[in-house]
Amino acid sequence: MRLVFLGPPGIGKGSYATEISKILGIPHISTGDIFREEIKKNSELGRVVKQYVERGELVPDEIVIEVVKRRLEQADCKKGFILDGFPRTLRQAEALDEITKIDLAVNFAAPVETIIERLSGRRICKNCGAIYHVKFMPPKKPGICDICGGELYQREDDRPDVIRRRLKEYEEKFKPIIEYYEDKGILVTVNANRHLKEVVEDCLRIFKERGLYNR
Ligand SMILES: [Zn+2]
Repeated sequence: MRLVFLGPPGIGKGSYATEISKILGIPHISTGDIFREEIKKNSELGRVVKQYVERGELVPDEIVIEVVKRRLEQADCKKGFILDGFPRTLRQAEALDEITKIDLAVNFAAPVETIIERLSGRRICKNCGAIYHVKFMPPKKPGICDICGGELYQREDDRPDVIRRRLKEYEEKFKPIIEYYEDKGILVTVNANRHLKEVVEDCLRIFKERGLYNR
């Protein structure tokens, strides 16, 4: 089962991928995670990637494609995989088809207001980095970390106006990729405006319907 997960920032794509990867026993491959890991290891690839990240630039397609290609050649991908954070450009989507055959592209969607509510309520401890949510996971005392008593703050990226801008950028950037999979007849859209468990169940139901999963 070779899957591509698509969806805007804040949709919870990474959480769905983690859950489904456990259920299906296939790896969750996040290009962001691979790059962070390589930077931490200070490998040759890590040093190259770091230069782009530090300049605030995107890692070029050729590098990302090569990294994904090598990862997909590993033994644990034989039964399938979930790609999260790749492809991000049409060029990457086309290159992926040359590497392997994708069975399904799952497009997670939710109303803009839902995403704004989720992200803009997020608060982070200045001291220990613990994450809270004013509505879904509030601290015992507003603005104070339960664990260490540190001050909570809102990331610049989590402000509603910034979120709106990021969502718009996402939409413009990913439209061609979504259309690409739609044209191939392998795009499914999943309503992510629900609890994690329901989103995961819906995905499994779709996989069954498509004959990709039969447990
Ligand atoms: Zn704290």
